[in-house]
Parts: sequence; structure tokens; C-alpha cells
Amino acid sequence: MADDWRTMDIANPTEEHSMLRQMVRDFVRDEVENQALEHDRDEIFNAPLFRRLGEMGLLGITVPDEFGGGGMDATAVAIINEELSYSDPAFCLAYLAHDQLMVNNLAQNGSEEQKSKILPKVCSGEWIGCMAMSEPDYGTDVLGMQTRASLRDDGNWVINGRKMWITNGSLDEEGTPADIVWLYARTGTDERGRAEISTFLVERGTEGFSVGQKITDKLGMRASNTAELVFEDCVVPAENLVGEPGESMIHMMRNLELERLGLAAMALGISRRCLSAMNDYASERQAFGTEIRNFGQIQRHLGESWSEYRAMRSYVYDTARQIELAESGNRLDSDGVKLFGTTAAKNIADRAIQVMGGYGYVGEYVVERLWRDAKLLEIGGGTLEGHQKNIARDLSANSEAIEG
Ligand SMILES: Cc1cc2nc3c(=O)[nH]c(=O)nc-3n(C[C@H](O)[C@H](O)[C@H](O)COP(=O)(O)OP(=O)(O)OC[C@H]3O[C@@H](n4cnc5c(N)ncnc54)[C@H](O)[C@@H]3O)c2cc1C
Repeated sequence: MADDWRTMDIANPTEEHSMLRQMVRDFVRDEVENQALEHDRDEIFNAPLFRRLGEMGLLGITVPDEFGGGGMDATAVAIINEELSYSDPAFCLAYLAHDQLMVNNLAQNGSEEQKSKILPKVCSGEWIGCMAMSEPDYGTDVLGMQTRASLRDDGNWVINGRKMWITNGSLDEEGTPADIVWLYARTGTDERGRAEISTFLVERGTEGFSVGQKITDKLGMRASNTAELVFEDCVVPAENLVGEPGESMIHMMRNLELERLGLAAMALGISRRCLSAMNDYASERQAFGTEIRNFGQIQRHLGESWSEYRAMRSYVYDTARQIELAESGNRLDSDGVKLFGTTAAKNIADRAIQVMGGYGYVGEYVVERLWRDAKLLEIGGGTLEGHQKNIARDLSANSEAIEG
């Protein structure tokens, strides 16, 4: 027992975690790597490959077994995201939107009826889901959202508004909407004048729900679909309200930490791949009669990238270890790890391009795509500025966190 803490690998703390990592790593090598470049170039979401994740039991990794999920924890989420992002961060973003933004949210906050009806479908891959919070005019300022749901006399809700930037919002080029949307909408104003936000489950085929546009020409994450969703007099039955009206802040808080950890784990996968690519290249490439790794400036790129990668790995898995899926309470570190990891990943990808010179600048050598994908992580799921704001606020309320 005394030696456990010395021998434990924080990124693979149990046999089950190690086996999960190996399974995903094999899948990525055999089936994800070879399709990534093409899907990025064509801006196509690989839905058939996504459904393979369902066959492997990965869509709903944190969902209890009884609903068809994997019954695992936040560390498992980090492992899967890291491994998928090693080859294809955009494919991983589609996975994150489904598994962490929608499915885990339902598993933590839905009623027994909602869970029994929907979780088996989203865990198997029969249905692909998304989470719709952002709007054309409101992102960070989430409580400003304008999408409204009004309660009708017959007990049903009528929803009107537009949601923007929704990953998996559209499943294909024809504008087929996601099978199920975890939707946030304004249902009133509380006694302090703040927006009361409620959560709804909206199924494809519900009248008044459609895709406004698939957003194209993104810098990165091009193999994940991003869409605008439109709700026009969309009637949602009473049983599709999650919890009570006004409870969305609880849902958001419970899910937020896993979302941010998931994005930081994507940054880790990008960093590992870029470091590996630049390290190999630094030995293979000769200039002025010697390997370029003998040049001090190349050594600086390698040295800084290694230390940032190692720091990120520890911070990601230490945060994952502490996350309780059904509770909130660790925003300081879920914001902190995303703030540190995403910019570090972008910088490591940038250095990989630099070390690889002209080859680093073209798609075949992968790192330029990872550099483009890494930039999204500084915006989605909370901007860098949002994390800085949260950390400053949380440290003011909890300065003991600094002393440990
Ligand atoms: C590819 C992609 C996928 C996405 N997927 C989803 C999804 O699946 N579901 C979803 O709901 N959303 C999604 N988003 C939206 C994403 O979460 C938002 O883009 C993000 O929250 C920022 O919101 P915004 O774009 O409206 O920028 P804004 O919030 O308008 O921010 C603009 C700038 O102002 C800064 N700023 C804002 N407020 C403050 C403040 N108080 N202090 C300091 N600076 C501030 C921001 O940091 C930023 O630099 C996605 C976005 C992209 C690009």
C-alpha cells in the first residue's frame, strides 16, 4: 500500500482505465487516423464512424450500465478525448458534444422516464445528440439568451428563438437536425430581475424545429458539423421539460466541469501528437551536416513543449480524479486546466510546425490541422477571458485554495 502512490500512473489509475485507453488507441490507429485529413478538407462529419463508438460502448461512457452506458468516470472521459484528439480533434469534438454536453447532462439531471426513454438510444448511437446554449447575440453572457419558452394552457411549451454554433446540430449536408437537442431557453425572470432559464429535450421531427444553416469555412474542427438551429412556434410536451422551470443553472453547473475537463483532455491529445511529430522530425531532418535537434533553437522548442505537455498531463488527470459527476465544486481547476492546456496545446502545435518547416505547413504532416483545431479550444466551452474571470472570482471567495 505504501508504494501505491509511487507506482500509480495518474493517467491510467486502474486496470479498467488502462484497458479503455488501449482499446481507444487501437481504434484510433486503425480507423480514425486514415480518415481525418479527408474529412477535414471536405468539411464532412463521419457519422458512420461515429456510430462505431456506440458499438464500442463509448457513447455515454459516464452513464450507468442499466441505461446502456459505460458506468465510468471523468478520468475515462479524459482518456477517450485525449486518444481521439491525437488523430482527429474534430471527430472528438462531435463525440464531446454528444457524450459530455448532452448524454452526461441527461444522465445527471433527467427524470427516470426521460433517462429510460432516451439514454439507451444515445448510448447505442441510434440517436446523435447536441447541446444548444449559445445564440447569435449571446455567448459568454449566457443569461442574456433570447430563446423563449412559454407555458400553454394545455401544459405544453412553445419555444421561439435561434441557437448558434451548435456542434452536431446538423448531422449532414442536407440539414438533417440532431436526433435530440438538450436546449436551454428563457422561461421568465426571477424576483431579482435575472433570467430564469429552463432545460428542454427537443426531438427531431418536432414541428417548428429545424436547421437554419450549417456553418462552413471554419478555421478548424472542420470535420465536426456546426449549425444554427431555429425554433419557430415549436411545441414541446410537458414531459420534455427537465426538472423544474428555472433549474438550468443547476444543470449547467453540474455539467460544466466535465465539459471543460473534456476540452482540456483534447488539448492534451493534440499536444502529445505534435510533440511526437516534432521530436521524430528533429532527428530525421539534417541541415548544415547535422540533425536539426542539435541546434539550440530547436532544443528550446522541444524542451518547452515537453515540459508544458507534462504539466498539462498531470493537471488534466489530477482534475479528472477530483470531479464528481453528480455535483459541482471544482470550477477553479476545471477552468484552470482548460485555461492552461488549450493555449499550451496551440503553442506546442505552433512549435511543431516551426520545427518541421515547410512540411509542417501542409496537411499530410498533420500538425497544421491540429494547430487550427487547437484554436477552437480557447473559445468553445468558455473563452480564455471567461476562465480568467471565473478563477479571479473563485480565488476571492476561496483564497485557501492557494495554500493547499
Ligand atoms: C466550432 C464551435 C463549436 C461550438 N459548439 C457549441 C455547442 O455545441 N453548443 C453551444 O451552446 N455553443 C457552442 N459554441 C459556442 C461557444 O461556446 C461560444 O462561441 C463561446 O461561448 C463564446 O461566445 P461568443 O462566440 O458569443 O463570444 P462572446 O461571448 O461574444 O465573446 C467575444 C469576446 O468578448 C470576450 N468577453 C465576453 N464577456 C467578457 C467578460 N465578461 N470579460 C472579458 N471578456 C469578455 C470573450 O472572451 C471574447 O473574447 C461553439 C463555438 C464554435 C466556434
